[in-house]
Amino acid sequence: MAFPNIRIVLVRPQHPGNIGATARAMKNMGLSQLTLVAPRTFPADEAVARAAGADDILAGARVVASVREAVADCPVVVATSARPRTITWPCLTPKAAACALWDGAQTAPVALLFGAERTGLTNDEIDFAQALVQIPVDPVFPSLNLAAAVQILCYEIRLSAEAERPSAGKSGAAHQPAPQEALNQLIDHLEKVLIDIGFLDRSNPRKLMRRLIRLFRRAAPDTNEILILRGILSAIERPYPPSE
Ligand code: SAH
Repeated sequence: MAFPNIRIVLVRPQHPGNIGATARAMKNMGLSQLTLVAPRTFPADEAVARAAGADDILAGARVVASVREAVADCPVVVATSARPRTITWPCLTPKAAACALWDGAQTAPVALLFGAERTGLTNDEIDFAQALVQIPVDPVFPSLNLAAAVQILCYEIRLSAEAERPSAGKSGAAHQPAPQEALNQLIDHLEKVLIDIGFLDRSNPRKLMRRLIRLFRRAAPDTNEILILRGILSAIERPYPPSE
């Protein structure tokens, strides 16, 4: 069983050992697509040692500079967190997250984001995801080792794939969310227009934008819907009244 459309993304990993252990955890479960966002040390001998035979996954790993780049082509993106966040993103159980990723992977690449060992993901990085997943743990000691968290979620993905159920890819083929980058460009465009028309507070644009981003990620618009919204934004930008 292979999962060519399911991408594990480690964001700013600090320890090469954890990158190797992640590759091993992935390969045990049949996953192969690893993306590293700005790793501190990579390639590294320690990563190869901890991969324990999964070095083909390290060799094939894609290294990029930003989360945006890592998920540009993914309509479905889920982020992980060791702690509850103050701004509430829709929160999924590991099982529900695995299910959403597996279903999305039937028609397009999907991504699961993991944060840096010490700090986790920033809120700005989580903004690229539709939902957050927190592995249930003892609240007094909630933070798992990075590769252990990868292991648990890859296992859930495997269970989800093995479960016999009709995939949304087949039954829900009518709605095909656009790739992330199309949505990101809509969000950039919207932010610019909202600043231009004086709706957004220039000193703190992120506050309202974060709520709008959540709304758009939840709606998961398709390419045509995004084109319509971009068209409306372009019309707002044109001088008014029309000079005909
Ligand atoms: N101190 C950080 C912990 C980061 S642990 C924080 O409070 O966010 C490194 C990464 O491992 C996290 O960003 C997340 O991707 C993953 N992780 C650790 N524990 C997790 C848990 N209980 N549920 C989901 N992901 C977890």
